[in-house]
Amino acid sequence: MASAPSPIYLDYAATTPVDPRVIQEMARFMGPDGLFANPSSVTHAPGRAARAAVEEARAEVAALVGAREREIYFTSGATESNNWAWRGLVAARRDRGRHLVTSRIEHASVLDTAQALEAEGFRVSYLPCDREGRVDPERVREALTPETLLCSVMHVNNETGVIQDIQAIGKLCRERGVPFHVDAVQSAGKLPIDLSTLPVDLMSFSAHKVYGPKGIGALYVRHDPTLVLEPLIHGGGQERGLRAGTLATHQIVGFGVAFRIAREEGMADAARIGRLRDALWARLSRLERIRLNGGGAPRACGHLSVSFGGVNGESLIFFLGDLAVAQGSACSSARGEPSHVLQAMGLTPGEAESTLRMTLGRFTTVEEVERAAECIAQAYARLSVLAPDAARRQAG
Ligand SMILES: *Cc1c(COP(=O)(O)O)cnc(C)c1O
Repeated sequence: MASAPSPIYLDYAATTPVDPRVIQEMARFMGPDGLFANPSSVTHAPGRAARAAVEEARAEVAALVGAREREIYFTSGATESNNWAWRGLVAARRDRGRHLVTSRIEHASVLDTAQALEAEGFRVSYLPCDREGRVDPERVREALTPETLLCSVMHVNNETGVIQDIQAIGKLCRERGVPFHVDAVQSAGKLPIDLSTLPVDLMSFSAHKVYGPKGIGALYVRHDPTLVLEPLIHGGGQERGLRAGTLATHQIVGFGVAFRIAREEGMADAARIGRLRDALWARLSRLERIRLNGGGAPRACGHLSVSFGGVNGESLIFFLGDLAVAQGSACSSARGEPSHVLQAMGLTPGEAESTLRMTLGRFTTVEEVERAAECIAQAYARLSVLAPDAARRQAG
């Protein structure tokens, strides 16, 4: 009997495997013979060595995005970074107004923070996007008021891969003196980012979407005396008093190595992944009643959001066997709701539910793409034959 084929992982937007080179370096900071000392314990040599490793990692993170080292603050991940950017700025500027601007297609960590602030009496403008998932910078211009405390628009959408024009949006914000926050979790390491020229004041990063460990991220805070952020987490004074808590040396070191690899290899990787993604779409596009979401907009290399007319995504996933794909984002599927991103793009809830998100990455192979295309085509055909009307009713 032939052995079962290994599972195919096409869910890199939810998380990536940790690069073996990252694991190797992280291990040096954990065992009894390792550099496990507290980086804040500068009274002894092991502590100072750990501190040096943390600062080296900070320099690597900064280097990938054209930031200065002192502008990078380590957090537990991008969820915390997003929460902190919003809450930290609102707390520092609340005497100036009660209005915030964001888009309808943000990650849950931004949208839920926005909602929580609404419940506390703040007013939030949610910018729409067009059919291709793009936010028109003109809409930002219209939404900004003298009372606006913050504008927050993501760089690359985690469901569709669509790239927003953060240069244009940032320019408008700067003209109005409104701080601009960007969730760059899905773009870091995949698109060039140069914060020395981009008009962006705050930017969120996560290591585990860039082949680093889970549970570590950063917030970039532009060095500018007029940009003040209150801490979200109080305690031992780490991170210049703005983010307390013992620094997670091994996580931070892993983050640094992951971002160094991205700086050295990310663009070549992106070109290769983009070709694989396009090859997968070339195969899938031959199927009937199929639609590529955001296909008319500039997109990052790894994303493919495809609606399969008339079938329910959940049923389709059931037939996909060992193929790991998502329906919407990991966060929206945890809630069991149809994707807010796809609905903002004009899809009906049924159409959103008949959508699969396939995301490719560093370890995706040509062979995996071929097997995935076959597997999806078969499952789609089976489902369309089995219960075309039921499937259509569900999807309608
Ligand atoms: C994954 C993700 C986050 C959350 O990052 P964590 O580090 O997992 O908290 C935020 N924004 C986007 C766009 C993401 O894809």
